[in-house]
Amino acid sequence: MSSLPSEVDVAIIGAGAAGLGAAQALKNSGLSFVVLEARDRVGGRGHTIQAAPGVIFDVGCGWLHSADKNSFVNIAGQLHFEIDRTLPPWRERAFGKAFPQKERDDFIRALDAFYDRAEQAARSGRDGAANLCLEPGNRWNPMIDAISTYVNGCELDQVSISDMDAYEDTNINWRVRHGYGALMAAYGAPLPLAFNCNVTLIDHSGRRLRIETSLGTLTANKAIVTVPTNLIAQEAIRFHPVLPAKVDAAAGLPLGLADKVVLALDEPEALPKDGNLRGATMRTAMGAFHLRPLGQACVEGFFGGRFAQALEDAGSGALAAQAIDEIVALLGSDFRRKLKPLAESRWAHDPFARGSYSDALPGHAGKRAVLAAPVDGRMFFAGEATSPNFFSTAHGARDSGERAAGEVLRIK
Ligand SMILES: Cc1cc2nc3c(=O)[nH]c(=O)nc-3n(C[C@H](O)[C@H](O)[C@H](O)COP(=O)(O)OP(=O)(O)OC[C@H]3O[C@@H](n4cnc5c(N)ncnc54)[C@H](O)[C@@H]3O)c2cc1C
Repeated sequence: MSSLPSEVDVAIIGAGAAGLGAAQALKNSGLSFVVLEARDRVGGRGHTIQAAPGVIFDVGCGWLHSADKNSFVNIAGQLHFEIDRTLPPWRERAFGKAFPQKERDDFIRALDAFYDRAEQAARSGRDGAANLCLEPGNRWNPMIDAISTYVNGCELDQVSISDMDAYEDTNINWRVRHGYGALMAAYGAPLPLAFNCNVTLIDHSGRRLRIETSLGTLTANKAIVTVPTNLIAQEAIRFHPVLPAKVDAAAGLPLGLADKVVLALDEPEALPKDGNLRGATMRTAMGAFHLRPLGQACVEGFFGGRFAQALEDAGSGALAAQAIDEIVALLGSDFRRKLKPLAESRWAHDPFARGSYSDALPGHAGKRAVLAAPVDGRMFFAGEATSPNFFSTAHGARDSGERAAGEVLRIK
């Protein structure tokens, strides 16, 4: 479907993991519904592209985090998508001489001690910025901050200790061989969708909700809003009358930034399959590299936080150029001719995402529950930022959509 019905029982706004999870849960409810999506595709921050022949690239989410508790694992089974159970090399191994094992072990000890201090601080019940849990003067602090830019999309001074502690991670991470975004596309394919349908206003002043979109107006009894927090906070989607508690909650849960780049690799045999590459460079502004993901002839780079923002702002191609410079510095100048840019993300510049994943600002961990709460029994909220402990993930988003659909059905 790509045209807009004039009225439905339930309008779902956004066809990312949350919107699709909500729609799947309403499928056999007897209610009429439509998913209104601003883009011309489903998946939102889940998007797989064929970057080159033989190179599949997840521009957004790639890992089935907490795979033993991840609802997309069963869905992949039902839709006949192969799961690769190779665990990521993030903690245990690093390729080459750039980060010798002894140094790496020392770093991991410092990182674990930081997380222990954060857990203790969270238990004390007083929230604050997570950088307060760094050991003053520890030589690994800039690299611990770099990890935060990958995990939270921002530096530790922007991260709530309580929120960081609430995140649930079983440390089992798998992948969808043909792409997480491709799995989402298959999951969404049978649903009623209106594409290129940018929702600008939800008017809840009358008996029915009146929803203004770029394709025209429709009315609904209920709506499930799943758009990223930055769009609510910046009022790219508005409510009439305004919902100040929602705007405030969304502003406390901004999207941090993580960007990915994929480089074609000549003579791939020289590098290990699923290898990890990074240097002990003692900087926060640096990338992390995944060598030959799933055995493909490529290298994936990952950048986060203020550094990713600066690279995006520098223009298209800056991420790839930085990745190549860093890899050459770690592995030698030969690699300059072996690596060719294929694709890179620009999530901060994406008008329908405006960032990568939510993180709670210090003092704002409670805002996830505020954002998730229904309004007047007819406006419901989902999306990764509303997940109590799987926030920032695709499965957390999907499950939140299912939760919101359950709320809709309970108030039927
Ligand atoms: C680089 C990167 C790497 C990541 N890595 C992982 C990972 O490895 N594992 C993991 O689990 N998660 C990862 N994530 C996070 C994961 O992708 C997201 O948490 C999840 O996909 C969010 O789903 P969502 O439905 O909440 O939001 P979205 O996917 O953003 O869906 C919201 C939808 O709403 C649409 N929309 C926005 N505004 C409007 C409007 N006004 N009208 C209509 N439609 C609108 C958007 O186009 C979008 O399709 C990553 C994200 C990024 C960016």
